[in-house]
Amino acid sequence: AEIQIKRALLSVSDKSGLVELGRELARLGVELVSTGGTAKALRDAGLDVKDVSDITGFPEMMDGRVKTLHPMVHGGLLAVRDNADHAKAMADHAIGAIDLVVVNLYPFQQTVAKGAERDEVIENIDIGGPSMVRSAAKNHAFVAIVTDPADYATLLGQLADKGGATTLEFRKKLAAKAFAATAAYDSAISQWFAKVDQGEKFPERRTMASRLVTTLRYGENPHQEAALYVPETPFGSGVAQAEQVQGKELSYNNYNDANAALELAAEFAGGDPAVVIVKHANPCGVAQRGTLLDAWNDALACDSVSAFGGIVATNVPLDGPTAEAICEIFTEVVVAPGADDAARAAFARKKNLRLMITDGLPDPLRAGVNQVVIAGGLLVQDRDNGHITPDMLKVVTKRAPTEQELQDCLFAWTVAKHVKSNAIVYVKDGATAGIGAGQMNRRDSARIAAIKAREAAEQHDWAAPRTVGSAVASDAFFPFADGLLAAVEAGATAVIQPGGSIRDEEVIKAADEAGLAMVFTGMRHFRH
Ligand code: 5GP
Repeated sequence: AEIQIKRALLSVSDKSGLVELGRELARLGVELVSTGGTAKALRDAGLDVKDVSDITGFPEMMDGRVKTLHPMVHGGLLAVRDNADHAKAMADHAIGAIDLVVVNLYPFQQTVAKGAERDEVIENIDIGGPSMVRSAAKNHAFVAIVTDPADYATLLGQLADKGGATTLEFRKKLAAKAFAATAAYDSAISQWFAKVDQGEKFPERRTMASRLVTTLRYGENPHQEAALYVPETPFGSGVAQAEQVQGKELSYNNYNDANAALELAAEFAGGDPAVVIVKHANPCGVAQRGTLLDAWNDALACDSVSAFGGIVATNVPLDGPTAEAICEIFTEVVVAPGADDAARAAFARKKNLRLMITDGLPDPLRAGVNQVVIAGGLLVQDRDNGHITPDMLKVVTKRAPTEQELQDCLFAWTVAKHVKSNAIVYVKDGATAGIGAGQMNRRDSARIAAIKAREAAEQHDWAAPRTVGSAVASDAFFPFADGLLAAVEAGATAVIQPGGSIRDEEVIKAADEAGLAMVFTGMRHFRH
């Protein structure tokens, strides 16, 4: 199963590391065969190279479209060496075996990315390269295929270890990577055609090439298998790219919840320290304060019952005092864009706690697509990156919100966007006072949020629930006045909601009668 490398075919567009590789191979006595540009680069470095055209008996022609597409090349790649018929065919036609192929492809993606004209893009569709990659990868029982300059060092390491041979195990790994590379390459081409020629909006959803990061212990439930993938072309940094500093292995639900928490924390990027506590993908406490410790304490106070076993995200690096405080309750995951030494030391005492550090926060305004698998199909939509600025708000009541009410309205609106519908979120002084999530009618969400706020008041011996004097956000319009009246009953003094119900007038009238200030956003944030 170990194959001695006697002849290597090198044909690369990206010539980084090429000369060093060629020199080492030559030193090991390997015969080098190359296409035009690659051969020139090797020769310029003083190495002995044979031209592919000498082997095929044909010149490279048609602007390089036809260079290596020839039985003298593909026979040498595909022959099953221990098959008598194949061996005879090789002998009859004087086909020499090729033991190593080093190929990387015409830079199609880069050509598209630089905005090249159609003709140039088409010319950068590599044909012979992928053919050699696929031939060599198919015949990995005998041939080693290297498609990534990053693997040159590993290859040379193995050749040094094995006296100039490769192992079957290594060739299998290289073959898997090679087919992943040609699949990604072809999916990029197919996406370009679908998008540019066919005007399709979401071709990347059909053909998105992704790479397995890790298999997970199980999915949402133990009888479901699961894994984490990242796209070959990443969308930016987030939980999928985070470094796990410590703790138990992350589960499927941990990833999902940590993502929900970090996406909400990211809404506060660049602002005062903010803490988000998530359970089952819904926030159960969010606060923004002068210090991260204060933000943690006030986020926790919103619903400390739900926070047990929660997922915590912050918008700034973790510090020691906050980490100490988080460690006082059972927490599954903490994810943050950094942690100082004191924070790391505090968490280190909680062996099971999973600490995830990201190299930044995902951009809430980024474009993208979401997909949901339904029976027999796939539902695809643009990511909800809708964003409300104060100038977009329309005051619809007699009373306009005070500056503090306006701030709390916007805070509540931001949180509501990250709460499953129907979402009702009460906020007072930059901290959630009650969150109602995922109910089948809006009035129930308003009531549940108020009940939670009352329980928090009892637990902390507060004179009144924090919903008194709060701002309340509703992710979609109130279809009837009853939801709004439930909020009035809880003590809310300001309301933010999309508006647009046929009963808006009735709802506005109820708000005016209760002395509320209400603003319409004109934008809805369902999250199902
Ligand atoms: P070079 O710089 O050596 O002239 O060309 C190297 C590139 O040519 C590599 O990216 C390789 O994948 C590509 N290539 C090799 N053989 C063929 C072929 O027969 N047709 C086409 N279109 N590309 C080829």
